[in-house]
Parts: sequence; structure tokens; C-alpha cells
Amino acid sequence: MVGTSAEGARRACRESKVLAVGAGGIGCELLKTLVLSGFEDITLIDMDTIEISNLNRQFLFRKKHVGQSKAEMAREAALKIAPNAKINAFHGNVKGEKFDVDFFKSFDVVLNGLDNLDARRHVNRMTLAAGVPLVESGTAGYNGQVTVHRKGETECFECQPKPVPKQYPVCTIRNTPDKPIHCIVWSKDLLFPGLFGEPTQASQENGAGEENGAGGEEKDLEISTRQPGQSARDYGATVLGEVYHDAIARLASLEDMWKERDPPKPLDSSLITAGLGKVAKASSAGGPRGAAGESASHVLGLTNSHAVWTVEESVAVFVLTIEILLEHHAAKIGMLGFDKDFDLSVDFVAAASNLRSFCYGIPQQSKFDVKGLAGNIIHAIATTNAIISGLIVLEAQKVLLKQFSDVMTTFVQHNPTRGRLLQRIPPQKPNPKCYVCSKAMVRLEIDVKKMTLGQLVDEVLCKSLAFKHPTVLVGPTMHFESGNDLEDDEVLHYGKQRKKILADLPGGPIAHNALVQVEDYSQDMSVEILVQHKVFEDEGSAEFFAVHGEVKGREEGEEGGGDEEGGDSDDDDLCVVVAEGEGAKRNDAEEGEGERESKKQKTLM
Ligand SMILES: [Zn+2]
Repeated sequence: MVGTSAEGARRACRESKVLAVGAGGIGCELLKTLVLSGFEDITLIDMDTIEISNLNRQFLFRKKHVGQSKAEMAREAALKIAPNAKINAFHGNVKGEKFDVDFFKSFDVVLNGLDNLDARRHVNRMTLAAGVPLVESGTAGYNGQVTVHRKGETECFECQPKPVPKQYPVCTIRNTPDKPIHCIVWSKDLLFPGLFGEPTQASQENGAGEENGAGGEEKDLEISTRQPGQSARDYGATVLGEVYHDAIARLASLEDMWKERDPPKPLDSSLITAGLGKVAKASSAGGPRGAAGESASHVLGLTNSHAVWTVEESVAVFVLTIEILLEHHAAKIGMLGFDKDFDLSVDFVAAASNLRSFCYGIPQQSKFDVKGLAGNIIHAIATTNAIISGLIVLEAQKVLLKQFSDVMTTFVQHNPTRGRLLQRIPPQKPNPKCYVCSKAMVRLEIDVKKMTLGQLVDEVLCKSLAFKHPTVLVGPTMHFESGNDLEDDEVLHYGKQRKKILADLPGGPIAHNALVQVEDYSQDMSVEILVQHKVFEDEGSAEFFAVHGEVKGREEGEEGGGDEEGGDSDDDDLCVVVAEGEGAKRNDAEEGEGERESKKQKTLM
């Protein structure tokens, strides 16, 4: 820190009240660094309990702590380092009612070590409302960043667009994959739920009348049901033949589809026979099968998750996984979905996607890579968390010492430029077109003759615009209120209102060109939304509205790599990247461009 006496910095640490949100990967490092830097009044919030998979790098926790509150255990561990510190731990959701604007106002600075976008947006709004500086952070693998946000002085966390989920064309997934991820999405979202669970919403939508310019397509998976008396293994082999031989052969016969590309090749019966031979051999070798936690790859001795299976091995894993699921998890059949923590589902998706890739001449992947791609996972790196936490504390000290001209946005990069791991740039000014901190108007395209008030509230206001308790007004007419302080008759009234179509709302319909005022007292937010009627062609699609901010991306040529954003995740071991299925490094400038051009953009940041 330029021009600061060490004593001044120490005093600032000692006398400041700090709120740290999150006690996971970043949070553990941050709390340790805070107490070692001399901070003595720290409040910690985290809603999670400790899981065994946290222990590899959330080093404040030990095996005996599994199942206990992260916030409380982190507090205990930090007190061993600094017994005189005052540390308050809250095991709860930062969006909870007790953490209101007054609560945030009681701190000198707020430090975020969160792994989900929704909570980060909420804390952004609470710190803006409270006028308390926020030091924000995020990591994704080797990349990370620390930003400082001060109301009116710098951009807020939501001034720049955030990545939107990557979507693949339906016909590519169903008929013409050309990348491993296409086959993985097909296995995870279509085949696995088709066999073992309720088809996901996505797969139902995928079947809903998509036009395909290629001149024909395979609409649905044709899989027979298990016959009475048919063994589970025999059924698995039947499914394999139907999916990788019969269906592929049928698809390959649609000549119009293959004018521009090579048709897929049905799986050869000799490969199927060889794979089934492996299953027979493994089961004749004896040993328990399908016991708690045992997966097909384990039974088959395929224990190196970084190795790419042969086609015969994928056949064996495919059939044996079906057998184990049917024989040992019968109660769950019909309810299963892909779960990165359920090894049988990972085995299945790895085998199924690799077999499909083989048919299409696409390179196959290791189970480890399939798991990462299927879960949009970028594996957390403890060192990145440590670097980021150190940077958070450095920036917090500058803020507390009011050395605002020294404050920096810092990117930690996987591939250092000019030998520098850290890239630092001054904070951006507030974006005048940000609806969160600059009160800019939002333009919303919706079908006002189809959308209900309930959909507007749930999908647009809460999910897309991150409101917590929105109130909806048109002129003087109050259409909707939410929150915990409503009377019973109000709850009943607004429950009825929710079912009404927007254009039919009495006393000020939400029709074309309506100006809707949305307020949220819990976040001290107020936004004007200009509604424009638009008919969305694609019935049943998830894309039934479009939010257009005039939030612009960063200027062309400005560097800002590494600004990865974590999405929702129930496990902060793994940072789920919302945008990229393939873990490619992103660039802010490109993201901004993409968002501006996207017609179907749903998230506005
Ligand atoms: Zn903003």
C-alpha cells in the first residue's frame, strides 16, 4: 500500500467491523487471512454444512466436522489462530430476513466469498442499499478475480452482463452431433432420464415440434420396455442394440440429412459381443455387485478415471450399469436424473456418450472429463482461492484506509501475460445503463396475452432480475405484493392475481407499452420496466420472454479475462460455470458483444 504507515493499516484492521459472506473454498482462506492480518471483529454467514468432499481444501474443517455448520466450525478454527478476535457466526442464508439493510449498515466493509450468482446479486443490492463498500470475488479453476464496488463511485457487481447458460441446437443434439459435449448432453438429458427417470423439462421441450431444415429427423428414442422374466442384463443388451444399432441405422438412412456430412455408423455386433463378454467375465469372477456405492466401472476394474475406455469397455459399462440400477436401485427407477455425485449415473453418461461419439466418429473422453463436461464443472484449485483471499484482504485494507485511488480490480490468470500471474486494472465507473445501481429502465418483451402475473413474478422478476420480494405497480394500481408481512386476505388476493393473464389485469393491464414499476423494499430496489408485446413462436420453449437491458458490454479491446462467474451449486467444491459447457476461457469483451446481439437473452446483468 502506497503511502501508508503499517501502524495505520493495523489499526484499520483492528477497529473495523467486517462481514464475510461464505465459509467455503474462498471463505476458509479469507477468514484465516483476516485473523492473521489483525482483523478482530468479523461476522461470518454461510448456510451450508460441511461435506467430506470439502476437506481437501477447506482446511479449517476436519473429518469429525462433517455434517456441521461451516460458519460455526470456521469460527472455532479461526479462534484457535486468534483467541482474542470477536467472531460472530451465522448458519443461515444471506438472503434471510434477519440480514436486512440495517444489518448490512452495521459493517465497514462486506467481503464476498460466494459460489452462487443469485446470492452475489443479492449482496450487491444490499450493500448498495446500505452504502457499504463491497469487495467481491470469484474463482473458476486457475482463474479468479477480485473487484471493489462502492456506490456511485465504481461499477456495481451487476453493471456488466453476466454469462447466460449455453444452449445447443436441438437437432444437433438429437441427430447431428459433432462434438463430445453434444453426445454428453444427449446421454445426460435424453437417454438417462428416458430410461431411469422422468424426462426432464428440457427433453420434453426438445421433442416439442422443432423444425429441422435437414429434411427429417428422429423424433423420439424408441426403447422397448423390459419384458416379464427378462433378465436385467439381457434388457441392457436390448437397449444397447436399439439405441446404437437400430436407431443409428434408421437415422443414417435419412439421406437428406447427410448431404453435407458423413452419416453415423451403427455399432458393430462384434463390438457388442465383446463388451458383453467382459460383463460375463467380471460377474463370473464373483464378488459383490451393486453394493452401496459400487459402480459398473469399478466392478469391471476400470478404476483409472482419466483413462479413455475402449468401445468394448463402454459397452460393458453401459450394460452393467443398467443391470445394477435395475437390480439394486429399483425403488429409484422413474425418479433418477444425472447427478455428478451418483457414480452410476456418471458411469452411464460416460459410456453412453462415448458409444454415441464412436458412432459419429467423434473423439471419446475419459470418465473424469465426461463428468466435468456433464456437470459444467471446473474443478476448484485451492491455490487460486488462497491468492484471491489475500487480494480481498489487501483491497479491504485500502477501502478501510480510504485510499480509494489505490483500489484495483485484479484478475488471476491461468496463462500469465508477460510473465504476470495477476492483471490489475482500475475499477470501472458505474454503468449509466445499469438498472440496479443507475436506475436505468429495462425493456421486456413478453406475450402479454399468454403470460400470467405469476410467471412474470417468478420467471422474470425473481429468476432473471433477481428480486426477492417484488411489488408490481402500474400507475396507482398495485397488482402484486410479496413478503412475510402480508395479511392472510392479502396472500389470498395476490394468489388469485397470480393466475391472471397480464393483459387482463383489472385497473391497469400490463399490455403493450405499459410502464411497470417494480419495487423491492427488502433490497431497497426500484425499477421501471417498459413492456413490449411479442409473440414467441416456439411453443413450450424455455425462451418465452426476453429482457433487454441497455447494459452494454465492455469496450472492444479492453482486457479482462478470467472473470469467470460461478453459477448455482449445491457443492462449492465445484464451481459450476453457467455459460460454457466446455470450460473455455472467456473474455469480457466477447461476452458483452454476444449479449448485446443475442435476441434470446434472458439474463440481464
Ligand atoms: Zn450497476
